[in-house]
Amino acid sequence: MTTGRPAVELTQVTKRFRGGVTAVDHLDLRIDEGEVVGFLGSNGAGKTTTMRMLVGLVRPTSGTVRVLGAAPGAPGALARVGALIESPTFYPHLSGLDNLRLVGRYAGIPDAAAHRVLSEVGLTERAGSPFRAYSLGMKQRLGIAAALLKGPDLLILDEPTNGLDPAGVAEIRELIRSLGARGHTVLLSSHVLGEVEQVCDRVALLDRGRLIADGSPEHLRADLGGGTLLIDAEPATGAATFLREHVAVRAVELVDGQLRVTADPALAATLNRHLVQAGFEVRELRPVRHSLEEAFLRLTTAAPEEQKEPAAAGGGQ
Ligand code: ATP
Repeated sequence: MTTGRPAVELTQVTKRFRGGVTAVDHLDLRIDEGEVVGFLGSNGAGKTTTMRMLVGLVRPTSGTVRVLGAAPGAPGALARVGALIESPTFYPHLSGLDNLRLVGRYAGIPDAAAHRVLSEVGLTERAGSPFRAYSLGMKQRLGIAAALLKGPDLLILDEPTNGLDPAGVAEIRELIRSLGARGHTVLLSSHVLGEVEQVCDRVALLDRGRLIADGSPEHLRADLGGGTLLIDAEPATGAATFLREHVAVRAVELVDGQLRVTADPALAATLNRHLVQAGFEVRELRPVRHSLEEAFLRLTTAAPEEQKEPAAAGGGQ
């Protein structure tokens, strides 16, 4: 549930590093309270730099950044932001609980908070085990627990599944889903596309520092090429001609006797009705949704002139 109040507002933000690398290029992005947003992009796209700007670790070259209504890094705002940007350092011989107590004490947070966040990340049962005995997934969960210690209004997680095996990835995915369900505002980055698709309300795609698409996973899929309908109809050639000529569906291919129709999967029932009414026998009609990964690859490999404007994918904001 979003409140409609902005948690993050980036306006025309550019970051140029010494040496000439433009890591972030005229980025406009607004994240509302309560949204779970995935920041997606390949290596070097500018995700970490943007996140570092949100916590005041990097200053933008130009543009404005507002986090929870304040300048990033301002003490009032920082107190309300939990971030996992660099791998947190924990003492290997201390338990997860003691590590969190220690982190909390530095920030003046009562010890009770450590128990609360351990439970939030599902580590209560292993609270007493030394950090060195934790699996990678558990270590990462402890990092997220540390970011949750101050009860932040905004949680920033940079590649929280990096280096994890599939079981660890699934653990973190579940955790982020549950944080979102409990109303946390989360910005997480990843280059694992299926990941963000599964846990985020909205996905912002970065490519070479520029926002090239922004919207809900469903809208991105629809806007970035729709989907495909596989239709098994008799006679197939006649059905293909009929769809092209009478239903104005242009992209129809015959593959192994099946029709491959490029169309919004929501049109499945309509196409079925047209075909049946025209006397074709429809044996099977199956929508194949493009994954966000396909949509992403189409965008990032598109010709530069196709990338000038962000795809206004709507949804989620
Ligand atoms: P990854 O998925 O690999 O972490 P990313 O999307 O997080 O990538 P950034 O780390 O933000 O990308 O890097 C964006 C670009 O800025 C890269 O070309 C990187 O080399 C460059 N860059 C990042 N930090 C610095 C720095 N301190 N000095 C110079 N260049 C930098």
